[in-house]
Amino acid sequence: MRYQNVIVGGGLAGGMVAQEYREQDGDGTVLIVAREDHVPYHRPPLTKEYLRGEKPEAEVYMHPAEWWRNHEVDVRTGVSATAVDLGARSIALSDGEPVEYERLVLATGATPRTLPGAQSIRTLEDSRALAEKLAGSAGHLGVIGGGFIGVEVAASARMKGWEVTMAVPESVVWEHLFGAEVAVYFQRQLEEHGVNVNTGTKELPAGDYTLKLAGIGVTPNTELAEAAGLTVENGVHVDEHLRATDDVWAIGDIAAYQSAVHGRRLRIEHWDVALNQGGYVGRTWAGKESGPYTTVPYFFSDIGDWTWFEYVGPGSGRADIRGSMADDDFVAYYLDDDDKVTACLGVNRSDDVNEAKELIASHSGAPVG
Ligand SMILES: Cc1cc2nc3c(=O)[nH]c(=O)nc-3n(C[C@H](O)[C@H](O)[C@H](O)COP(=O)(O)OP(=O)(O)OC[C@H]3O[C@@H](n4cnc5c(N)ncnc54)[C@H](O)[C@@H]3O)c2cc1C
Repeated sequence: MRYQNVIVGGGLAGGMVAQEYREQDGDGTVLIVAREDHVPYHRPPLTKEYLRGEKPEAEVYMHPAEWWRNHEVDVRTGVSATAVDLGARSIALSDGEPVEYERLVLATGATPRTLPGAQSIRTLEDSRALAEKLAGSAGHLGVIGGGFIGVEVAASARMKGWEVTMAVPESVVWEHLFGAEVAVYFQRQLEEHGVNVNTGTKELPAGDYTLKLAGIGVTPNTELAEAAGLTVENGVHVDEHLRATDDVWAIGDIAAYQSAVHGRRLRIEHWDVALNQGGYVGRTWAGKESGPYTTVPYFFSDIGDWTWFEYVGPGSGRADIRGSMADDDFVAYYLDDDDKVTACLGVNRSDDVNEAKELIASHSGAPVG
């Protein structure tokens, strides 16, 4: 069997390659090999609206199943790629004959780290199972870990009337991401809405927990790439064009890409990055893109329906905070020693975040006025 374009991984990054390729008039054959039993879907709702029962499952998908058929994209769900032969330009599948390709993209995503006795959340099934429990009679949820997943699930469970206790290793929730001065705002949101936040610890206090959830990070799914002989070190190494070899690309959560904007290697586990990297490869395959990948990483998170933020970067440095945290209306610019903007976080400040994104993209990094 032979396809011109083969995509391993049916998540957002993989789905975007096929979508953009077709939208840019790419007319070659396209196969998506998708381990899960679903056509590509969005994960952000799994800790937010879908988890709380506010968004139906149909709205979680990138497109309904017939969209892929109508666009002549073969999505083989419930099938894994088990090996890549770079020399023969073929992949082996868990189910069926090997497939030869002209171009291959690896978009295999990541797997959550687990803790005994605690659930994790990555797939639609994980979220559906937790949603059913949260919709039942209120209990006590223990959350181990203070990353995005932990905070978002804590807020959603609290909105469903559950008692929620968190164990967070940092001294302030998200301090490791945004610095204490900014992070206090997010911790206050949790506490004001009744979440018990225990900082400086990886252990939940003794208590009766109905459920425990571990939000302790993910490991990129790089086994396939490594076994194929590609360079893997905290992700699959790809160049400024997201290429690992002349005919193999890697994108999304697994990609450790050489950023033309930052002049260093980045691996970013966020929705917008998967979206844009997938789109970039789809355009490249359709012959509509030849320059390096230059989109500045952007991400967002919602804490229940209490607050939300957007961030561009990634960067570090002194935080210059403007606006009012008390009014949920502020922006934090992260400035280096020359007062150049390396990153920006905004709460209800999309225009400022977009402006900072352009500054970072243009390399000018000039301080904002
Ligand atoms: C619950 C949750 C909430 C999130 N919320 C946000 C948010 O609010 N904001 C934000 O910016 N980001 C968020 N993210 C992160 C974002 O969803 C991810 O960065 C994005 O999904 C990465 O896309 P991907 O396509 O690289 O990987 P994935 O979405 O993980 O897709 C990869 C797919 O490949 C499959 N696969 C793996 N190996 C194989 C194989 N050998 N053969 C075939 N298929 C294979 C996997 O099963 C998976 O279906 C969230 C993530 C989760 C889990």
